[in-house]
Amino acid sequence: MKSQPNIATPRIFLDNHSTTRVDDRVLEAMVPFFLDEYGNAASRQHEFGWIAAAAVEKARRSVASLINAEPAEVFFASGATEANNLALKGLIEAYAPAKSHVITVVTEHPSVLDTCARLEAYGCTVTRLGVDASGLVDPDDVRRALTPSTLVVSVMFANNEIGTVAPIAEIAGICHDAGVFLHTDATQALPYLPIDVHAAGIDLLTFSGHKCHGPKGIGGLFVRRGISLTAQMDGGSHEKGMRSGTLNVPGIVGMGEAFRIIAEERERVVPRVLQLRDRFAGLLRERCGEIAVNGHHDRRLPNNLSVTFAGVRADRLMMEVRRVAMSTGSACGSASPEPSYVLRAIGLDREAVASTIRFGLSKYTREDEIDLATTLLAEGVRVVRSRNVPAAAGV
Ligand code: PMP
Repeated sequence: MKSQPNIATPRIFLDNHSTTRVDDRVLEAMVPFFLDEYGNAASRQHEFGWIAAAAVEKARRSVASLINAEPAEVFFASGATEANNLALKGLIEAYAPAKSHVITVVTEHPSVLDTCARLEAYGCTVTRLGVDASGLVDPDDVRRALTPSTLVVSVMFANNEIGTVAPIAEIAGICHDAGVFLHTDATQALPYLPIDVHAAGIDLLTFSGHKCHGPKGIGGLFVRRGISLTAQMDGGSHEKGMRSGTLNVPGIVGMGEAFRIIAEERERVVPRVLQLRDRFAGLLRERCGEIAVNGHHDRRLPNNLSVTFAGVRADRLMMEVRRVAMSTGSACGSASPEPSYVLRAIGLDREAVASTIRFGLSKYTREDEIDLATTLLAEGVRVVRSRNVPAAAGV
């Protein structure tokens, strides 16, 4: 019989790569834009519109400042998925057929990989580079993949499953020497890693609100001044024609506040999250028998912990430990029964993939939650191992 969740046990959210809790200050900043200041930011003829537009521009400055961009280089969209589509399809539409080769990496988010597959169907050429066992792409592989028709290299800043941080500045240098654009999906990196688009030589950068303690359904794209991009959404010419559609003013205001808070707090948040993550890894090692931590040892997001529990099917463990929110892969891929392509790409076999859980901490994670999660997991691991179901059975 399946054990029922004990509702006396508090719920613990360790799935912060899938989404995050909205910061109270973010919600507070958003509320007036639902209730009193509900004007359309494109309404130029009355104060409601002016106030909404001013709030949008304030948020644009906040986003720009976090990545050292100009506000005019920041464009809002519905999230990182749309921004990744806009970046790659928009570039190809603007520069093909003269340049129609895209280089990316096998461990990218589906919003990049599926976009690349679509571009291929339209006749573009796509090179997908592999990664090493820690999830790192080799900059020399990027250099070798370049051709005279290469338009853009798209490499995520930090991976959403294993947390590995790519050598973006080095790759950007290689791209620029070849006259090629560098796009990076920084969705997971922004809350934790300082990013200076100019110092790093980034041409296009994708961001999202809800991974940063901001609201869902809002994100956008930094596009370096001078780069042409063809809009993918036609309509009222919002966002200087780059992305038509009435602006999500409360969402934009919330994301602006979330990014302001990141700039203010990151130096304090990162060491705390890192210390908790390392405590968690240590406790799991002590109490859960044989485990392995995936991803790069040093070049990794401070909040990420991807753990393979030897001989334990992750889906069974999650059914045992229902009060702890965690995941077997990215939320985007969890609707599909396929084993994580990211874990396969770093060399895990099917059994190890089926035994792997991704944990994501945040600034809201507390030490007592880590300790309780460890206790629950250790008990769950013991129960699942005692049933002795081979990890690969049925996957
Ligand atoms: N890129 C990465 C790396 C992500 O982790 C996610 C969210 N899972 C996305 C893109 C998509 O973001 P959004 O939900 O804002 O569309």
